[in-house]
Amino acid sequence: MSNFDTKKIRAGYNSEEHNYSVNVPIYQTAAFDLADTDRAARLWALEEKAGIYSRIGNPTVGVLEERIRLIDGGKASVAVASGMAAISYTILALAEGGGNIVAASSLYGGSQDAFKNFYTRLGIETRFVEDRHNPAAYDEYIDENTKAVYIESISNPNAELYNVEDIAKIAHKHGVPLVVDNTVATPYLYSPFEHGADIIVYSATKGLGGHGTTVGGIIVEKGDFNYSPERYPQLYKKLYKSRDRQGNPRSPHDLAPESPLVILIRALYLEYIGAALSPFSAYEIIQGFNTISERLSKQVSSAEKIVEFLETRSEVEWVRHPSAKNSPFKSLAERDFPRGAGAILSFGFKGTLEQFDEFIGHLNYFSYHVNIGDVRSLIVNSPKTTHGEFTAEELKFADIPDNLVRISVGLEDPRDLIEDLENAFNHVFGNERREA
Ligand SMILES: *Cc1c(COP(=O)(O)O)cnc(C)c1O
Repeated sequence: MSNFDTKKIRAGYNSEEHNYSVNVPIYQTAAFDLADTDRAARLWALEEKAGIYSRIGNPTVGVLEERIRLIDGGKASVAVASGMAAISYTILALAEGGGNIVAASSLYGGSQDAFKNFYTRLGIETRFVEDRHNPAAYDEYIDENTKAVYIESISNPNAELYNVEDIAKIAHKHGVPLVVDNTVATPYLYSPFEHGADIIVYSATKGLGGHGTTVGGIIVEKGDFNYSPERYPQLYKKLYKSRDRQGNPRSPHDLAPESPLVILIRALYLEYIGAALSPFSAYEIIQGFNTISERLSKQVSSAEKIVEFLETRSEVEWVRHPSAKNSPFKSLAERDFPRGAGAILSFGFKGTLEQFDEFIGHLNYFSYHVNIGDVRSLIVNSPKTTHGEFTAEELKFADIPDNLVRISVGLEDPRDLIEDLENAFNHVFGNERREA
C-alpha cells in the first residue's frame, strides 16, 4: 500500500480483526474485558497490546491513530480530544519541569496565546522569532534549556510557508526536535517528516476531519530523533507503573527507544490529564478523512480562483496566499506543495468598519464563524475574533493587520462564491450591480 489515496481509505484497518465489519466500528465502551488474570498480567506488563480502558486507548481511536501514523510515516502516534490538547501535551511533555520553546512569531491564535500566557505559568517560556522566515534567526534563540522549535507548515491566518528543512537543521544542530503544526496543510498537502520535522501535531477538527462536526487532535512522532538524557531526563526516568512482569520499572525510552515521547504522553499526560478522544469522534474523523484528497484538491483550486478574483478588486488592499501575484512564498510552494498550498487565504479590506459590517451581512455563501477546513466556506475578521486575545503590539508582531479578513474555502461552486463576494463588494461600495 504505497499511494496516498489507498492509504487514506485502508491503512491501519483489517476487517478480520473487527468481526469482518467493512466500515470501522464504533467501540462505544469505557472498558474492555480482561478475560483472565494471566491476560491481565500480560496487558499490565505491556506484553499484549489491547484495550483496557478508553481513556488511554480504544480500537476506533486506534484506527485513526494508525492511519495517520502510516500516512505521515511516523513510528508512533496518539489521538487526543482537540488540537490544543495535542499541542499542549507535546509542549508540556517536551519541556516538563521547565525550559524554553523557540517558536515562529505568527501562529494560530490559541497556540500563540498558550505559548505566551499559559505555558509560562507552568515554567515554560517561549522565545518568538520575529524574523521567522530566516532559518538562521532561530539559531540565536536556542540554548541549553531549549526543548523544542515550533512552527506551522502553513500558518494561520496568513498562509505563510517555511523553509522547514533549514529550520530543522538548525534545531538538530542544537540537539532539539522540530515540532510542526500541520493542521492547515493536512497530511494530503504536506509531509513534515520528509522535510526534517520530528513531531507533527494536528487539529483534526479542521481539514483532516473536514466537515466542521468534530473536535479532535493527533500527535505523530517520527521515530529517529536522538533525545539526550541531559536535556530530556523525563524520557529516561523509570516509571513504576510501566514495570515488567518481574517488577522492574521502565522508562518511556526503555519501552520505545525510537518514540519515547508518545509513550510518555500516553502513559502520563493522556492517562492523568485525560483529554481522550471519544470513539464516536474518532469515527467521524475517519469518515471525513476518507475523502480528504477530493475535498482538498477542490478547495485549493477554488481558493486559487478566489485569490485571482480578489486581486482584481479595488476594495482589496492586498491578498495573502502562496498563489497570490506577489506572494514571497511562491517558490517554496512550487518546491514543497505540489498539490497546492492550502485553502485558507486572507485579504485586506479597504473600507471603514461600518462597511465591513455591511459586507459580512451581505454575504450568503460564507458562514461568519471561527473555524477552518469545513465543507462550508467561512469568513472571519481575525484581529477581532480568532486573534482577539492579542494586544495591538502582538497583532503587529504576528503581522496581522487591523483590516485582515480570513477566508477558508469550502466545497461550494467557486463561481457562486466569487459572485457572492462580488455582490457584497458592489452593495457596500455602491458599484453598479452585476447583471446575472
Ligand atoms: C484550530 C487550530 C488548532 C487548535 O485545534 P482545536 O482542535 O480547535 O483545539 C491548532 N492549530 C491550528 C493551526 C489550528 O487551526
